[in-house]
Amino acid sequence: TYSLGPKILNWDEERRLWLNQNQDFPNIVNGKARILLVTGSPPNPCDNAIGDHYLLKSIKNKIDYCRIHGIEIVYNMAHLDKELSGYWAKLPLIRRLMLSHPEVEWIWWMDSDALFTDMVFELPLDKYKDHNLVIHGYQDLLFNQKSWIALNTGSFLFRNCQWSLDLLDDWAPMGPKGPVREEAGKILTANLKGRPAFEADDQSALIYLLITKTEWMKKVFIENSFFLHGYWAGLVDRYEEMMEKYHPGLGDERWPFVTHFVGCKPCGSYGDYPVQRCLSSMERAFNFADNQVLKLYGFRHRGLLSPKIKRIRNETVNPLQYVDQFDIRHSGQGTS
Ligand code: UDP
Ligand code: MN
Repeated sequence: TYSLGPKILNWDEERRLWLNQNQDFPNIVNGKARILLVTGSPPNPCDNAIGDHYLLKSIKNKIDYCRIHGIEIVYNMAHLDKELSGYWAKLPLIRRLMLSHPEVEWIWWMDSDALFTDMVFELPLDKYKDHNLVIHGYQDLLFNQKSWIALNTGSFLFRNCQWSLDLLDDWAPMGPKGPVREEAGKILTANLKGRPAFEADDQSALIYLLITKTEWMKKVFIENSFFLHGYWAGLVDRYEEMMEKYHPGLGDERWPFVTHFVGCKPCGSYGDYPVQRCLSSMERAFNFADNQVLKLYGFRHRGLLSPKIKRIRNETVNPLQYVDQFDIRHSGQGTS
């Protein structure tokens, strides 16, 4: 059967030794676990040029968030394993990055169609100290309903450890393109509530794995106290209301951490929603986030649908007062 690579058995020990011998590459920096955010898009241009423009906006949004919070970032456009193409490409990539960056403590996968919409919020990593996989979802949807949307694989974190390598090995076998993926799709559709008939996808396969081998759950943290993934349709029309009532840093339905355009496919040729609705909603999400970044520089967008910006305060001879007031890095909202 298919495998992601030679079986690695002693990663925790190897990595511990490596960290000891390479003190210039610590896994904890200034008390914070080192995080590598990973995203990417297909190796070829989008079917539609506007799709490439939104990929650019999406990576700008992630660069902004990561710069502000001291997170490193990888953008991948290759298929490391040609059998694991499309949405399965994240698996060999995550494994490769874990093994090539022993200094990284957490690998954070984020889809290209997910945007940060709370530029202040930070992951409560302390909460996850006894877990190795952090993913947005609902326990009830997973174990009682066996729903195919119980978890969302558009934004999740893996700890760099043996357990994660083992889970990836157990997750991958439904992935190989062709008859294997097709046949596996039938099993997933037969077992998961609400799943349409199509080839095996990474999200359904993970859900099925956790339902059928519950011992994995000991190290899985199902997060829903904030939007590690937030379904766009219920959020994008409420941004003005959020700006009126709340402030960034909350991360939940009051000010969603991530807005994910599930079903939109701006880079592909067909999706579940009208293209125009998707594009204008993505534009709103981007500008909603960008306003939080621009504030430090004294600007904001004229409206959430406008790429144009306007000044929100006058130039000053005492610029540092604004640095202290508006630089998100000084807001001290983060845990660790
Ligand atoms: N992806 C990739 N290479 C590919 C196809 C997909 O890196 O060839 C990434 C991309 O970031 C995308 C994610 O995998 O957002 C999930 O794939 P899916 O087909 O579900 O796309 P989405 O609907 O999220 O755009
Ligand atoms: Mn997605």
